[in-house]
Amino acid sequence: MEKRRQAGMDNNDKKRRQSMIIYVIIAIALIFALNQSMGRYVQRQVQTVSYSDFLEQVEDNKVKEVELDTSSNKIQFKTSTDEDAQVYETTAFPNDDGLVDMLREHNVDFSAEIPDQSNDIWIYMLVSYVLPIVIFFGLGWWLNRRLRKQLGGDDPSMDFGGGGFGGFGAGNLGKSNAKIVGEKETGVTFKDVAGQDEAKESLQEIANFLDNPKKYADIGARCPRGALLVGPPGTGKTLLAKAVAGEAKVPFFSISGSEFVEMFVGRGAAKVRDLFKQANEKAPCIVFIDEIDTIGKRRDTSINSNDEREQTLNQLLTEMDGFDNNKGIVVLGATNRPDTLDPALTRPGRFDRRIPVELPDLVGREAILKIHADDVKMQPGVDLGVIARATPGASGADLANIINEAALRAVRMGRNRVTQEDIEESVEVVIAGEKRKSTVLSDHEKQVVSYHETGHAIVAAAQKGTAPVSKITIVPRTSGALGYTMQVDEDEHYLETKGDMENQIATLCGGRAAEELIFGEATNGASNDIEKATKIARAMVTQYGMTEKFGMVQLGQQRNRYLGGGAELTCSEGTAQQIDAEVQRIVEEGHTKALDILRANRFKLHEIARYLQKKETITGEEFMNIFTRDDGFAPSLPEKQA
Ligand code: ADP
Ligand code: MG
Ligand code: ZN
Repeated sequence: MEKRRQAGMDNNDKKRRQSMIIYVIIAIALIFALNQSMGRYVQRQVQTVSYSDFLEQVEDNKVKEVELDTSSNKIQFKTSTDEDAQVYETTAFPNDDGLVDMLREHNVDFSAEIPDQSNDIWIYMLVSYVLPIVIFFGLGWWLNRRLRKQLGGDDPSMDFGGGGFGGFGAGNLGKSNAKIVGEKETGVTFKDVAGQDEAKESLQEIANFLDNPKKYADIGARCPRGALLVGPPGTGKTLLAKAVAGEAKVPFFSISGSEFVEMFVGRGAAKVRDLFKQANEKAPCIVFIDEIDTIGKRRDTSINSNDEREQTLNQLLTEMDGFDNNKGIVVLGATNRPDTLDPALTRPGRFDRRIPVELPDLVGREAILKIHADDVKMQPGVDLGVIARATPGASGADLANIINEAALRAVRMGRNRVTQEDIEESVEVVIAGEKRKSTVLSDHEKQVVSYHETGHAIVAAAQKGTAPVSKITIVPRTSGALGYTMQVDEDEHYLETKGDMENQIATLCGGRAAEELIFGEATNGASNDIEKATKIARAMVTQYGMTEKFGMVQLGQQRNRYLGGGAELTCSEGTAQQIDAEVQRIVEEGHTKALDILRANRFKLHEIARYLQKKETITGEEFMNIFTRDDGFAPSLPEKQA
């Protein structure tokens, strides 16, 4: 294995040498060509003739302009008054006093001048000396970059040794062959991260410290050695870590936790050693360990403990204690499972700072959309606020993806600007999947789906405080949804009341209720609604203490806050049964409420469902127009709309 690496290096050397030769040849050829063309350009302007020739041409009335250069005693003349006519040159004949009279006689425009030649000299110097040097080095730099890319280095990043150069020869057996790539410049700053103001504030101090470690050392302050970025996937943890390095203009060493876990015991630990050795050489710098939970899992005494992982973790703990804090190394870790981390990792002096990176709120979402929208060509007047409102719960990565999908759609439609419609459609693609062309619903199925979706919409609209309906569609999606009703809140809610949740459950039951009311039969189309309604009801009982029966007692614990895991019951079996009964009661109440609302609005249900079946997609406005129109069958409206 070591042998092969050696051979690889030889090969690289050869390639490098070849490229150098090509480079020198190209550079010489370029400089030569440049000199030639510039020389010709300068020469073309002046043509030397003899003094007698000059006199002859004056006699023949051919000369129109004459200029005497007193410093070099040269006469320059033109045979035409044109700006860019050919210029001839001759040396003035000494003591030829008759010349002035003669020129006058032949009506020649003449003058004497001491031309400022310094300008020309500068240009000459520039062209013949400075430019070639610039070209020489420029080309060299460019070639070097290309070479690096070809030979496997990352383009803008620098390979700070590690396996690449120092990995062969005896005595290096324990050395890791990980290519730990340090980026000299991440090119990302806090400006590229929208929202996340609290996280940025916390990280700003670290950036300041890395920028000027001495200032902190002088006063005796210890900067945190490590900070843990904690949050759901796609919220910008990696991006933030890079931004810290970018703000402080320090190198960025990045490695993912899973890279440490190898097959052979001891390799991971060697890698950690290696990583910190390199970081020490390049300090101040950032060491970023992504998905740190893969190595940082709580060490336990269970039988199938992972020796390799524990060794790696121990090495990491040792290294974090060992390095000289004043040199300016900050270790950033990222995880979405903070609950599983070993307590030793999070004690002061290691990852003592915990920086939550949460899902963006309404303002944050709009800002993220804006940052990514700046990278694509947008039609003027696109309203990103609407999109932000339609995407509660979306992460930064989702939003970046929405904008990209919109751009792809614009290209697909043969446009060169992204429109509002593109983005709205791509929101649906991200939420519900692509429109499915192959699914052809029969007319009856279409009818059922229309009533189902209209049922949701009417129940939502007839209750107070629910999010307004913004779109209803019965176009099937690749996710399996045969249609859906989109509700978009006007602003973000952080606090939800018991009533809000009950309304939501009723709205979710609205689809099935409509089917039952009109067709007298249930379909499997409501499975997703049932799942959601049950989840809300269960949380009301076990987590929010919203039932009289149990009061404020926690009966369940959320399994994983950031990965959206369900709750784990923390109660006796008997209680679990009662919980189930409570959940059932809550959902059933919602179901009854939905049936009541739809019965009261039966005519509207028919009208809107028929309209939807015909149009396939209707906007919230169209829906509200029909729903609130007074045509004899007054809808039962909540106070809000009345
Ligand atoms: P994480 O590491 O938390 O899983 P990343 O940092 O890898 O998430 O984010 C993925 C992508 O999502 C980023 O490259 C960026 O394009 C986008 N993104 C996420 N959060 C933000 C944000 N706050 N501002 C701008 N872009 C973001
Ligand atoms: Mg990440
Ligand atoms: Zn439904």
